[in-house]
Amino acid sequence: MRKELPQKGRSWADLEPEMETMTSGDIDWRRGRSPMYVFYTTDDVYEVARNAYMKYFTENGLGNAKAFIGVGQMEREVIEMGLSLFNAPENATGSMTTGGTESLLLAIKSCRDWTRANRPEVTNPNVVAPMSTHPAFDKAADLMNLEIRRIPLRDDLRADANAMDAAIDDQTMMIAGAAPCFPHGVIDPIDELSEIAVRRDLWLHVDACVGGYISPFAKRVGYDIPDFDFSLPGVRSMSADLHKFGHCAKPASTVFYRDTSYHDFQKFDHAEWSGGRMITQTYVGTRPGGAIAAAWAVMNHLGIEGYEAIARRMLEMSHQYQDDINAIDGLRVVGKPHITIVAYESTDENVEIAQVAEQMRSRGWLIGMSRQPAAIITMMSLLHERPREEYIDDLKASVADVRAEGGQAASAANTNYS
Ligand SMILES: *Cc1c(COP(=O)(O)O)cnc(C)c1O
Repeated sequence: MRKELPQKGRSWADLEPEMETMTSGDIDWRRGRSPMYVFYTTDDVYEVARNAYMKYFTENGLGNAKAFIGVGQMEREVIEMGLSLFNAPENATGSMTTGGTESLLLAIKSCRDWTRANRPEVTNPNVVAPMSTHPAFDKAADLMNLEIRRIPLRDDLRADANAMDAAIDDQTMMIAGAAPCFPHGVIDPIDELSEIAVRRDLWLHVDACVGGYISPFAKRVGYDIPDFDFSLPGVRSMSADLHKFGHCAKPASTVFYRDTSYHDFQKFDHAEWSGGRMITQTYVGTRPGGAIAAAWAVMNHLGIEGYEAIARRMLEMSHQYQDDINAIDGLRVVGKPHITIVAYESTDENVEIAQVAEQMRSRGWLIGMSRQPAAIITMMSLLHERPREEYIDDLKASVADVRAEGGQAASAANTNYS
């Protein structure tokens, strides 16, 4: 039976409990049961984000130049704070977007249009990127008829700069790396990619969607974070999500360009229709003013010290998880995670990692997996601080159960992210 719009409306008092019933079976993210989707930080950050969001709930980012000048100023300040965080030169600029997918779409579109204008010999453009590159690149390629060349990783699961160099041809418009990549949480050798970009005069994009707003602070509090931003001369554009480890409200991301002349190719400007001329800096039209306000408020609420304090706690937590996982006989953390994305695999032929995942699911944890290598992946926020012992205990019990069952086939259908 198809649900129909009800004839008579109902009050909030009536709706709220029904909605709560509808979502009562959803993953219990507040208890750290979700290894992705939710990036909760602390109650005070949540409150600031929510207050700011609700205060500007009705405002529309589309009207930032003409109607909502103040929200427009918040947006510019968010971009400027990001530019200074990422050591961007004087003439750099950027935009707020609705997420990593849109940020990447825009960076790739800007690069494509810049290439059309400046390298007319490129008629069949390709992007050379590591195997671990996020599928948002493929979405962009799908829309723009581009080729993405995914290059196998080095043994440490970081981009293989030499192999990427070898895959570049005269139709390559962009090379890319991640800081860090989604599946393994390791930062690619952006310095090596930058060297290639400078030497071959190519556009290098750094996908810092997940890590952009935590890595600089992890570095400041003493963790080993390789350079990945505009301090490297070959980096022409970067994407960094505020709604992940920037601790801001969804939907909010940023895309930055070393020079305004690159950003000019991002703009959409159209007059050939019945309405007036329409110019937008990004691709979407209407955008929630609340997300812009929340980003401004959270960044100013935390400041460098607040971000550092969170990074310190998160990195400590990540290393505790890694030590605990490595201490379980039969499991091993994959690569050397730079932040709080931790993937782990089986080292024991009698312990199929997909079966461990099944066991963990039956214990109430949402489990994400990667394919190459077959591993369980977790993207941890401060929500995962408290349930660590519970998680590790369940993990030990799951490994023991898999060993005891001895190689029953796990359901392959459940090994994807979504
Ligand atoms: C999350 C993520 C994206 C996509 O961002 P959305 O906000 O989900 O659209 C792109 N790249 C990386 C590395 C990511 O982690």
